[in-house]
Amino acid sequence: MQCSLCACTVFDPIGKKENSLFVRCRQCQLIAIQPHPSDHELDTFYKNYVYTERIINPRKKWLRYRIRAWLLRRLAPGKKFLDIGCNVGNMVAAAHAVGCDATGIDISQTAIAHARQLWQNCRFFNETTEQFSGRGEKFDIVFCSEVIEHIRDLHSFMRALTKLVNANAILFFTTPDSGHFRVPTKNLIAWSELRPTEHVAIFNKDNIQRLFRQYGFHSFSQVPMHRANLRFYTRYTGGDSFSVNNNAA
Ligand SMILES: [Zn+2]
Repeated sequence: MQCSLCACTVFDPIGKKENSLFVRCRQCQLIAIQPHPSDHELDTFYKNYVYTERIINPRKKWLRYRIRAWLLRRLAPGKKFLDIGCNVGNMVAAAHAVGCDATGIDISQTAIAHARQLWQNCRFFNETTEQFSGRGEKFDIVFCSEVIEHIRDLHSFMRALTKLVNANAILFFTTPDSGHFRVPTKNLIAWSELRPTEHVAIFNKDNIQRLFRQYGFHSFSQVPMHRANLRFYTRYTGGDSFSVNNNAA
């Protein structure tokens, strides 16, 4: 088996959790499940997946979403907004509220059904990023929070992403951070982000930035986090490294 990020074949085992073996790539340090869950396992897992968070103060949360959407709108070259992995569509609705032309995609049928019912002014698609990128639409703002750690074929995802962005589009990303000081390095397998079936790729700051640069995203602006999470803004500018793609075949 190859590392889904750098194609290296040498791994160090981290440990087992619920029969899933977690390993770390010796070359790029990506943490992965080995072998990856099958299509069937993932289809079953995500069909009715709805991420429910405990919202203590919904008004405060809604305000925070709107402020983030407003900031992204200010930074972007236009108002076309896409949330990849939109769940029930709260962020899509916030983007609509600040004047964006807002769209959300998610692989969960249940989540998209809820989103359509809740937010009738926004568009929602029950498609993967690869499927949706085939529609030929382009966006100025892409929001992608806690998604990339679920992706098995990282290079296919990144290729689809580059098809979805206009020049100078702004992206907002979040994902768990294996390099964060709060990660229990002495007992890594106990870390809650090592989640069987669900989290198949755990990044650190270096390897995720390398991946994004390879596909033409530059000017990273990192938001420091008190929990073990990577959060950054980046811009799509294309560039020399854009054609370098080790998994293109
Ligand atoms: Zn690797």
